[in-house]
Amino acid sequence: MAPSVQPMADVVIVGASLAGLMTALALSRHGFSITLLERSNDTDRTGAALQVGHGLLEQLTGRRHMPGALVAGVQSWQAVYRGLRGAAEEAGVNILQQAPVLEVGEGDDHAWARTADGRRFAGTIMVGADGYQSVVRRNVNPQSPDAIFANYLAWVGFAEEAALVARFPPHLEFLEAGPYLLLGFPLSAADGTSAPGRRRVGWAWYDAGHNAILRQTGAVEGDLVRRSLRPGDMPEDLFDELARLARRHWPSPWREAILECIARNAVLGTPVVEYVPDRLARGRLCLVGDAAHVTTPMTGNGFATAADDALSLAGFLDDHALRHDPVAALAAYEAARLQPVRRVVEAGKRLSRDFVHAARSASA
Ligand SMILES: Cc1cc2nc3c(=O)[nH]c(=O)nc-3n(C[C@H](O)[C@H](O)[C@H](O)COP(=O)(O)OP(=O)(O)OC[C@H]3O[C@@H](n4cnc5c(N)ncnc54)[C@H](O)[C@@H]3O)c2cc1C
Repeated sequence: MAPSVQPMADVVIVGASLAGLMTALALSRHGFSITLLERSNDTDRTGAALQVGHGLLEQLTGRRHMPGALVAGVQSWQAVYRGLRGAAEEAGVNILQQAPVLEVGEGDDHAWARTADGRRFAGTIMVGADGYQSVVRRNVNPQSPDAIFANYLAWVGFAEEAALVARFPPHLEFLEAGPYLLLGFPLSAADGTSAPGRRRVGWAWYDAGHNAILRQTGAVEGDLVRRSLRPGDMPEDLFDELARLARRHWPSPWREAILECIARNAVLGTPVVEYVPDRLARGRLCLVGDAAHVTTPMTGNGFATAADDALSLAGFLDDHALRHDPVAALAAYEAARLQPVRRVVEAGKRLSRDFVHAARSASA
């Protein structure tokens, strides 16, 4: 099938999740035409309790007052996504869904992406914001394209506070018990209210003792993570075992939240991955967010680091740089960001190493 060629944009971004949307917003300040290519319709993620700084939208766009709702504080992934997506649409960013990119490359004066249905999108530059299994990273750094399994997982669940008798604290809590760590966090309800009794509560339970099930189900192969463990992958006796462990290790109110999720089989097993980059750009291609670097969610840093990538890129890539020497602008972005992001991931790797070591000692 001959590729159908789409009109050229200034910037093509692969991946329309948080990093892709923040990069689009930051670059929109220069008046660029921006096309975002997203493979899925279902961009719903779970697991993250994202810390949103005051005035994030204003900082990204360089505008003094942004309409729309992106409230500062600890927010659910969905709330942050809705806020960023609404702002990107308002800024005129062209967001295409069901556009999985299979291949990217470069011509003399452009970068291009080919989607599964044969369309070819070209831009003066291309940004990979396509997450930890990035297709764009394969081109930017063919020698080291893969994020690596960190030898533990996070069981993740969400419950409605109203469905629980227990009452929850107003802030995040980090707990340690035996070989496990637990992060519990209250979140605003879908309508934005954060009144006690009407919130959602989320939890992430870090566990290095169930790697075998990840391998048996093909979620992890060798060092590589293929996908998360969905409830349908999990045998009933695994839910029973998690319930027993929760009763033994976790205090109220988090125990009740975990047991309520287990009773609904509403638990996701997310293998933790890490990627220390040694490149962030090559020619007209560059990387941001989890495509560029992946750190354990224990650091709580993934979202803030992606926001910093977006701001840094927009600082080097203004209209003059895009028209006259985009390759030099992307090289300058790499030179400025590489060491800071490596430090973030290296610090996370130390946390992971200590956690896995302590978990193995506690289980021995
Ligand atoms: C369990 C868990 C808990 C976390 N908790 C926190 C936390 O508490 N605090 C924090 O700051 N961070 C946390 N993070 C990390 C944080 O969510 C990410 O670092 C941040 O959201 C940036 O993600 P991203 O947009 O770069 O990547 P992703 O969210 O992975 O988005 C990539 C996007 O690219 C799309 N895509 C992928 N491949 C293609 C393709 N070939 N073609 C087209 N589209 C494609 C995907 O569909 C997706 O929409 C957590 C992560 C996990 C897994």
